Amino acid sequence: MFKFSTTVALVVATALPLAASAQTTSTTPAKLSVTASFSILADLTRAVGGDRVDVQTLVGADQDAHVFEPSPLDAKKLLQAKVLVSNGLGFEPWLGKLVKSVSYSGIQAVASKGVKPMEAEGDDHDHDHSHAHGAADPHAWQDPTNVITYVRNISAALSQADPTGAPVYQANSATYITQLRQFDTWAQAQFAALPEAKRRVITSHDAFGYFAKHYKLRFRAPQGISSEAEASAKDVAALVRQIKREKTKAVFFENMSNPKLITQLAAEAGVKVGPALYADALSAPGQPGATYLEMMRYNVNTLVAGMQQN
Ligand code: ZN
Repeated sequence: MFKFSTTVALVVATALPLAASAQTTSTTPAKLSVTASFSILADLTRAVGGDRVDVQTLVGADQDAHVFEPSPLDAKKLLQAKVLVSNGLGFEPWLGKLVKSVSYSGIQAVASKGVKPMEAEGDDHDHDHSHAHGAADPHAWQDPTNVITYVRNISAALSQADPTGAPVYQANSATYITQLRQFDTWAQAQFAALPEAKRRVITSHDAFGYFAKHYKLRFRAPQGISSEAEASAKDVAALVRQIKREKTKAVFFENMSNPKLITQLAAEAGVKVGPALYADALSAPGQPGATYLEMMRYNVNTLVAGMQQN
């Protein structure tokens, strides 16, 4: 007992001056609690929210949102949030159930709202499309001009939850949108420097439809728009023939996907697999794709280096 009360006394004694100084030096209210469905949205939300937000992530770095299964900890993260930021377009098939299970009543922001969805490619695939995707390709963030819409939607949701912070969110958004446009101009120039015949790539699953359309590249993948889908032997064999025929050297796997399939495919086609591209998740801190802009720059440099060998 004696030991216990000493500890309490110590805690009280050290906590008091802190509380007093916090009161006199700052009038900042508690941070706005936001939960983002996956790592890329968490980064965008931090870019818009800055110091005013505390962001939790459900699907973390190098993890695959297509096949995610929420844990009790994820339910807790959602319950604490005033704002939930999701991608939409069928990217998070597990989210609706999670929202319902905790009776989440906060603001729900769908970051892709207003983006023109692309139809998912791969109608020639004869494997079973059992995943809950519908016809839309969810990977809209791969086109940085779509991310301008994402940022505006996130800014609107944060402003709704925290009207006092609205001017800050607007200013941060403007700064970030400038960075997105600068990145886009740079990326256009990198790809434009490549002869058109070289602008083709093989990856694990169809995550780069928006990217390919925006930068006028050709991507093929053995798996469809969800990494959940099984690639059929027929699809893989066709892709191997195509790689051989076109002498494609730019073959990549993705940071959150199992590299087994693409490694096997590359071995059959007699080509070397390039480094991982960041598709549906950021990298861990300290790795080359720790923020959205870093991941996009890394992908462009990696893709250009690969396509130069085509
Ligand atoms: Zn994906």
